[in-house]
Amino acid sequence: MAVRVAAAAKGDAKGARKDYQPAKRWEHSTVQVGDYLYMWGGNRDQPADLPYVHNNERKKSMCSVMEVCHLSTGKWEQKPTTGNPPLGVVGYAAAAIGNEIFYFGGWCHHEDCHHNSLYSFNVDTFNWKELSPTTSHHGPRMKAYSDMIAIKVNGEDYLALVGGWGPSNNTPEQPGAHASWYSYLIFAQLYRPFLSFYGGSCKQKRTV
Ligand SMILES: [Zn+2]
Repeated sequence: MAVRVAAAAKGDAKGARKDYQPAKRWEHSTVQVGDYLYMWGGNRDQPADLPYVHNNERKKSMCSVMEVCHLSTGKWEQKPTTGNPPLGVVGYAAAAIGNEIFYFGGWCHHEDCHHNSLYSFNVDTFNWKELSPTTSHHGPRMKAYSDMIAIKVNGEDYLALVGGWGPSNNTPEQPGAHASWYSYLIFAQLYRPFLSFYGGSCKQKRTV
């Protein structure tokens, strides 16, 4: 019995060593949907530095995977995604509604390039969809380090975005969007991602 336990323990130890672990990272988000955690992007150095570029094949390749943790077992698994992932890979904001995770903004990981795009990621199909592109002409400030939650207002789904930091380059300047962490509880903006995002510029319809 003791031998069997010892052998099992040895096997477990071997198994544990073989378990996949995601790369170390920071300035990312991990979002729970059902029994799983979904972790994407973030800043990384060793063993694979995130390229200091707007976009290239290497950046796209590094960002076209999702790290998935099964909560009941604690096991991590890396899964490939399809479609184009967001370019704001550092300090973006993320929140889930149903089986979709929404990603707003973020720093592009080069110079002063920030985003105000909104993407959705479907946890059933692992497909990225750009709902609204980065533009200086509408939407919130192009920024990173904001936060976002999903809420219901009168029974409809909204995303609420608060705070963050980014260069003052939106035209026209968005009222109330202060380039300061201190605006955290002052500035909150609501989105309706499925129905009329950014005042009707994006006509995404909910498909349920
Ligand atoms: Zn860029």
